[in-house]
Amino acid sequence: MNDAFFKTVARTPAFGFGGAPLDRVSERREDAAFVAALRARPDATAALIAREMPILPRGEPPLAPFFPIAEIDRLGGAQFEALLGIEAAGAPVFAALLPDGAVEQLSGDSEGFLDRRQLIVPGRDDLALTDLRSIAVQGLVAPDAVAVLGQAKAILSWHARHGFCANCGAPTRVAAAGWRRECDVCKAQHFPRTDPVVIMLALDGERCLLGRQSRWPAGMYSCLAGFVEPGETIEEAVRREIREESGIACGEVAYLASQPWPFPSSLMIGCFARATSRDILVDGEELEDARWFTRDDVMAMFDKRHPEGLTTPMPMAIAHHILRVWAEGDL
Ligand SMILES: [Zn+2]
Repeated sequence: MNDAFFKTVARTPAFGFGGAPLDRVSERREDAAFVAALRARPDATAALIAREMPILPRGEPPLAPFFPIAEIDRLGGAQFEALLGIEAAGAPVFAALLPDGAVEQLSGDSEGFLDRRQLIVPGRDDLALTDLRSIAVQGLVAPDAVAVLGQAKAILSWHARHGFCANCGAPTRVAAAGWRRECDVCKAQHFPRTDPVVIMLALDGERCLLGRQSRWPAGMYSCLAGFVEPGETIEEAVRREIREESGIACGEVAYLASQPWPFPSSLMIGCFARATSRDILVDGEELEDARWFTRDDVMAMFDKRHPEGLTTPMPMAIAHHILRVWAEGDL
């Protein structure tokens, strides 16, 4: 790796859900008195989540995404809380998962790319629930705050799904300011999951490999991606996933950047891979199509002027930036 490579990475902007500005004070989480004192501060706030969606005030963006702590009790109390961190000005920020009954579903469902459920807080016309992807895509809150909402959603989703010990089945309790669960029966400690996902661009000289899944918006092509498996390095996962989904063999792998992806708790690890074969064989399961694209193709897709109407993922997604770094010739 040379200086130019690191300069390229340093120029890569913070993506959606990255760049959270809080000091996580992770070294103080065991200090219950410290955490309680933070929560009692008059400037303490909380990100409020219900049924996987952040609660936001209604109004014109950018919206203020954090509420005074007292709002938690006004909305029925929290199922779980976690200390997210401390803002630069010193104000602590917590996350609170409200009970499902605090909100009401009017219509829609959670299938598809964006969550189309319409959830309301009964009796509170000043509040609205919006799914996190839409918040990021529409810029409803400042980019920094999108990252904090992602942090809140990921940690609270983990609590909601891990109420029982995976070792013995007994109920577990929250510890370490919301960053651990403990089993009092078998003494097992459980830590929040982050699931590593490789997302990568295979390169064959002046062409890159993109694919599409049938459930994506029509015409959108993106980097291939897949979960890292136990016992596998990032490089091995990159090569395996590309081969599995497209039949393309790859050699060298280089890391570019990563992105938290709180759906529910992934970490996207962005890479490039050097292809050593050219004949595509789509698996038909994960991908419905994969093709080689030139830089000109990709630039046309960015600019929405591709002759076939093909597009790329939005700038909130790391795939967009992996593609842009390559297409703009920064490598
Ligand atoms: Zn246990």
